[in-house]
Amino acid sequence: MLKGPFSISLRLTAWFCGIFFLGWVLFGTAMWFTLKRTLKDERYQTLSRRMDRLQQVLAKSAGEDEDDRTREFTEFARATGNGLAEVYRVNGQRAFPSPSAAAAAFKWPDVQRIGSERFQHVTSGGQPYWVLLRPDSLNGESLVLFAAAPESGNLVILDSFLKGLLAAAPILLLVSSAGGYLLSRKALTPVDKITAATRSISIRNLSERIPVTNSRDELQRLAETCNAMLGRLESAVLQIKQFTADASHELRGPLSFTRTVSEVALRNPKLDAQSRAAFEDIVVESAKASELLEGMLTLARADSYSLDAPLEQVDLADVVEEACGMARPLASERSLTLLINTSLASPAIVLGDFSSLRRLLWILLDNALKYTNTPGSVEVSLRVTGAKAVLSVSDNGIGIAEADLPRIFDRFYRADPSRSQVEGSGLGLAIAKWIAELHHAELTVASAEHMGATFRVAFQLDDSPSDGQRDRASVRDGLVRAKP
Ligand code: ADP
Repeated sequence: MLKGPFSISLRLTAWFCGIFFLGWVLFGTAMWFTLKRTLKDERYQTLSRRMDRLQQVLAKSAGEDEDDRTREFTEFARATGNGLAEVYRVNGQRAFPSPSAAAAAFKWPDVQRIGSERFQHVTSGGQPYWVLLRPDSLNGESLVLFAAAPESGNLVILDSFLKGLLAAAPILLLVSSAGGYLLSRKALTPVDKITAATRSISIRNLSERIPVTNSRDELQRLAETCNAMLGRLESAVLQIKQFTADASHELRGPLSFTRTVSEVALRNPKLDAQSRAAFEDIVVESAKASELLEGMLTLARADSYSLDAPLEQVDLADVVEEACGMARPLASERSLTLLINTSLASPAIVLGDFSSLRRLLWILLDNALKYTNTPGSVEVSLRVTGAKAVLSVSDNGIGIAEADLPRIFDRFYRADPSRSQVEGSGLGLAIAKWIAELHHAELTVASAEHMGATFRVAFQLDDSPSDGQRDRASVRDGLVRAKP
């Protein structure tokens, strides 16, 4: 199944991660600013409360003499905020001496420009501070009260928050991509199942259907639509098969009639030479047409038979003997050597149908004899290796071009006929392949142009007891019915 860079699950995962990442960045930024604002507000509240208390201290000391007021202010300032407080007159001079060295060295904002309360950011001694300035009056004199608090605590909190946010990024990305991938895979697994099921359906098993889950979603509709399409295809293919079978069947009668009539006519000794030649042509051509029809009828019926059926026990050595017996006269007629090699250590017993297997070997032998020039040789061999019996037919004939090899088992396919000048229908190997499949055997070919050809059929040996012929008659019936 496609899992490349363009698979839907990977694209969904990328989208999922992208959206998750964007959301995380927006959320983190919003949280950072909210935290910053909250910390600033909290600093303002602290300084504002301190300022309220300073105002109360100053108001209480209004009637006291200068020294007492100064002492009370200094005590208050030292007790709160590390002495970072000042009281200025509007002309820019201190109303009281600085309560601490830190306050004295602090870079307080310019007093003259202050009209109302102000909360501002100040950098003093290279450190950031928040400063609250509040206008006030004492005994009729206008004053400005100052209080400062360092911002460094806030910055540490903000810094930790940012670091935490960034440290969580790879983990969150990993979790989101793994989660996204798993979710999309889970959601798309039914698509893979539909694809696999659709792939496994061919013209041989068009009656099979894709499993439909009762999920009431797009995937259920897709599976149902595919099944409906398979149904339409199945009935169309059935009609074509039926037509081919019917047409082949119907044509057999007139064809054999024509042939018989021609053969009867040829027996007439008074027949003139021209008519004789014409009748002989009719006999030859109608024989070819009969062979073609027989092949078509076999294949038209072939697709409807099951490949899973158990068969009878057949000794392949017997199959070789019979098929070679049929081939011997043909080989000597064409001056070709027919070699048979069936020396076996153990019998080559397979489950199958004897006459179908003989037909399979005959097709291979007939081809080998057809496509080998005189003086050539054809060798039939039967070997037992492990759990397999391998039947092979080799020749040193014209061979098969590399480009033709993948197609020679197709129906009606013939490699360039001008190379061999041999008549044929192009159906033999398609029938041979079908028979091999019916026996769960593998038919392969090895060949190169002008280098001869070797066809191999590898069968699974039958290891069941010899009385295993029970219940198999019905299958044999199926095969027999499949033959013309
Ligand atoms: P046919 O022999 O009637 O043409 P087949 O289906 O039996 O049809 O074979 C298909 C094609 O495969 C043949 O036309 C031929 O080109 C090629 N072929 C089959 N067997 C051999 C062989 N032994 N040597 C060379 N070519 C072969």
